[in-house]
Amino acid sequence: MAYTYDPQNIFAKILRGEIPNDTVLDTEYSLAFRDIQPQAPSHVLVIPKGPYVSYDHFAAEASDAEIVDFTRAISEVCKAEGLALPVGEGFRMIANAGAHGVQDVPHLHVHILGGRPMGRMVSQQA
Ligand code: 5GP
Repeated sequence: MAYTYDPQNIFAKILRGEIPNDTVLDTEYSLAFRDIQPQAPSHVLVIPKGPYVSYDHFAAEASDAEIVDFTRAISEVCKAEGLALPVGEGFRMIANAGAHGVQDVPHLHVHILGGRPMGRMVSQQA
């Protein structure tokens, strides 16, 4: 079954310039900006500019150029935020998808969180 992308989602509006954002990095195929409700001293969202719902959608259908750009954008953000190893102390990277992933915004975004110990990955038991 095909993925359905909602062009009215909030990140699509950010990409169209209809809503402001605090940009960290802007590349040909990706945009990184600060989360409006940060959960850590450093909380940046990295999104592809293309209409992809989730990471699995992006990984399956994005072009090689988009995938390379997005991956490198994540690396650049981690470096720019001072989180990347070996200089920084590390980070948590999260990509929620769908209902069970508790994804609120249906445009692929990777959360990069750091600046403090992030705790165990999942608190509830399986
Ligand atoms: P999700 O639960 O979909 O993985 O995370 C969505 C994230 O988007 C949340 O952390 C939320 O704070 C952030 N967010 C929602 N609306 C906006 C917005 O208008 N601007 C920014 N910068 N972040 C937003």
